[in-house]
Amino acid sequence: MPDSINNELQESHDHRILNDVDMMTNEKWQAIIDNDASYNNQFFYAVKTTGIFCKPSCKSRVPKKENVRIFPNAEQALRANFRPCKRCKPTNVRLPDNEWMTLITEYIDKNFTEKLTLETLSGIAHGSPYHLHRTFKKIKGITPVEYIQQVRLNAAKEYLIQTNKAIADIAICVGMANTPYFITLFKKKTGQTPAQFRQMSKMEEM
Ligand SMILES: [Zn+2]
Repeated sequence: MPDSINNELQESHDHRILNDVDMMTNEKWQAIIDNDASYNNQFFYAVKTTGIFCKPSCKSRVPKKENVRIFPNAEQALRANFRPCKRCKPTNVRLPDNEWMTLITEYIDKNFTEKLTLETLSGIAHGSPYHLHRTFKKIKGITPVEYIQQVRLNAAKEYLIQTNKAIADIAICVGMANTPYFITLFKKKTGQTPAQFRQMSKMEEM
């Protein structure tokens, strides 16, 4: 490489480091709103509230403008501790699907007592609900909703065996405030009502 070109590259590189964060302009904001792919590789945008950065073309929900930071390239976004979006893959490296799904199951395992929807999960995973559903099914063999149910019912079984809590209280404890629905689902998945299950486990102990 001739020295002159080398110097030029070096200069532009230094210049970019000095301007670590690019300014938000109306043009860039419009590109983000429009998911305009013609701006890809011209800049990247990170969202402070999620810690994730995207290509301008990303179809994820439009963030609040005041939470957005603009970066001239992906490395600088990474260096500022933003993680690449799973959906638009701004570093062009995909997290393997199984690792991605592990993030989701870990989240469910920790938060199953809360209200969980596919939308909540896809927001956390930064992927579309449809893509999340499909990938989860492919990797885990069951849907995210079925997985959530499984985690909740397993927790309910523990409560039924270990405690004397009322069925309705257990339902609330495992994130299913609707008791009749809890009982119906429990019966459907285990073949017994929660009360029968508790009875059987007591008899097995004797
Ligand atoms: Zn994205």
